[in-house]
Amino acid sequence: MPRYNHHTAAYRVEGYGLELILDAGTGLCRLADLPGENAAELPPALILLSHYHLDHTAGLIYLSALFPRRRIIVAAPGTAVYGESAAAILNRLIAPPFFAHSLNQANPDLEVVDLAPGENHIAGLRIQCRIQTHTNPSMGIRIGNELAYITDTGCDAATVEFISGCPLLMHECWGRGEAIAASGHAHLEGVIQIARQAGVDQLLLVHINPLLTKSEINELEAAAQREFPDSAVARDLVAWPMAPGQEKLNLTPLFKSQARNPKQIQIAKIQMTETKARQKQSRNTRKKPS
Ligand SMILES: [Zn+2]
Ligand SMILES: [Zn+2]
Repeated sequence: MPRYNHHTAAYRVEGYGLELILDAGTGLCRLADLPGENAAELPPALILLSHYHLDHTAGLIYLSALFPRRRIIVAAPGTAVYGESAAAILNRLIAPPFFAHSLNQANPDLEVVDLAPGENHIAGLRIQCRIQTHTNPSMGIRIGNELAYITDTGCDAATVEFISGCPLLMHECWGRGEAIAASGHAHLEGVIQIARQAGVDQLLLVHINPLLTKSEINELEAAAQREFPDSAVARDLVAWPMAPGQEKLNLTPLFKSQARNPKQIQIAKIQMTETKARQKQSRNTRKKPS
């Protein structure tokens, strides 16, 4: 649910030579503040959807404005998960009378492909997927041996093996306390256990309960950092540099906003390519429990 200070799930991952986006919630609109990135000669945008709930897909209607001349690939759970192709599902989701055009009518150079359980090869990336329990199934997504994106599911012991070997884990964290498990969401204590058992280096908490106050989110983050020092809550427009030795990727959560000057988005992007020293400095600052 978008609120005064955040949008819904959308994350930009740099380092693969693509405009790589994880989920397409309302946070996708943040890309409008990155000027000069719409040229046709740029590499394609690859958007990976964990599932179709609207907090992860509402931003798809912005694609034609965000990437008017760019090739777009949308990869989402398809026939193996839902019994129909991702293209067919999205044609129902983005269609009149709910939107003026179908996704393909609005974006002539857009291709929709299925994400299947197991290994997928899309736009040169090796993307592994695992079906997760959710009100409607979601897909756990692992990109190469770099990062795993686990959202809209509870704390599942099977996640440990799936993400093993990835230094960065993005895992949903609805809040603290096992009572959360009854809602089908993940709680902090369980997420930390998964992160430890899988041996990840970094833990980025995403898909936080949107009703938490700012101070409650800060408390959640402090609790996470007491147990798992290299962890943080994803905040809108705040880049997450990879750990030393893993600088290949940098991650910008697009889903929360601090109502910043749009120009700061560029700064955040520039920061992502700055020196290791600068990245270390910002990481050390971030690690201090608030
Ligand atoms: Zn969902
Ligand atoms: Zn969700």
